[in-house]
Amino acid sequence: MQDQQKIQMVDLHGQYMRIKAEIDAAVAEVIDSSAFINGPAVGRFASALAQYTGAAHVIPCGNGTDALQIAFMALGLKPGDEVIVPAFTYVASAEVIALLGLRPVLVDVDRETFNTDIRFIERALTPRTRAVIPVHLFGQSCDMAPILDFAAAHGLYVVEDNAQSLGAVYTFPDGRRRHTGTLGHIGCTSFFPSKNLGCYGDGGALFTDDPELAERIRMTANHGQRVKYHHDVVGCNSRLDTLQAAVLEVKLRHLDEYCAARGEAAARYRALLLGTEGIELPAEASYSTHVYHQFTLKVAGGRRDALKEHLASRGIPSMIYYPLPLHHQQAYRQDGLSLPAAEDLAQSVLSLPMHTELTAGVQERIAEAVKDFFRK
Ligand SMILES: *Cc1c(COP(=O)(O)O)cnc(C)c1O
Repeated sequence: MQDQQKIQMVDLHGQYMRIKAEIDAAVAEVIDSSAFINGPAVGRFASALAQYTGAAHVIPCGNGTDALQIAFMALGLKPGDEVIVPAFTYVASAEVIALLGLRPVLVDVDRETFNTDIRFIERALTPRTRAVIPVHLFGQSCDMAPILDFAAAHGLYVVEDNAQSLGAVYTFPDGRRRHTGTLGHIGCTSFFPSKNLGCYGDGGALFTDDPELAERIRMTANHGQRVKYHHDVVGCNSRLDTLQAAVLEVKLRHLDEYCAARGEAAARYRALLLGTEGIELPAEASYSTHVYHQFTLKVAGGRRDALKEHLASRGIPSMIYYPLPLHHQQAYRQDGLSLPAAEDLAQSVLSLPMHTELTAGVQERIAEAVKDFFRK
């Protein structure tokens, strides 16, 4: 089949075909019941995800950006309050901060892990700092123990952006292990189709262990009401469709397999690309498992864009996550600010195809093309 020859960044169709019977039955059941909003699959999926991650409360919502916005609405921060957020990330993390009239304080990231850490967060503290958003980028956890200690010492909220790392597990210095998204006061995730646990449209969720916060989050996502037509706070309308919950309920049962498949694909890339001059392979932090949302190379010598073109000429897609750090974006521009690692990474990163259906043969073709580029 021609489709199998075509290399893709993600293969949602191939993944669907393997679980088609389960998905089709779950979707048919929702349509048959016609309980499209807040049907039984929504609560069942939230419970299953709480069980999987160890979170006490999982509150589904419309998408990952909504999850972040609802988190900050529920925490009740005031206009002008500062929130520390890495500059090398997807825009959503900073966007909701700005949208709520809070001040995003952009910080740098570690060149090896792509994640921000305590060194950068410490330096950004001011008397107005109220919260920090560790973004677990590309599939592994930020080093959370020092961040949680620092936040506790300074009375800061920790809101994890776990859109890319659902399923990853962080190990504390004392050996305790916990899922990302359940480490701070609130965790947020996205079920965008290409995420590690993706639905067939938009979806998101919030995690918390705090029953009062859980109640505020539920209320905020539901027009600020606890009792129908009684609105205690200004809220919004953000729900996970029953159809999406039904898809996610099926896919959650496969998440461990999916994480393992991504891990195997990453190990194959590593074996195939090891020692290739001109690229650096992604680092695995000792304190986190890696669920490889992305497999991201660093390309030396300003040759990233040329490598991308070379791959494209051989029918191999690749993506630049992210081409501009947030302080260089028109909407979030901070001209005096220098964040050297975020700026260098924006010039040098290149993500290779990574998904649950990658085969050894396809990865060999990709690796061969990468190596050929540097041979020339
Ligand atoms: C995908 C993503 C989001 C937003 O999720 P949506 O469901 O697309 O709104 C937020 N933060 C990060 C880091 C993401 O990768």
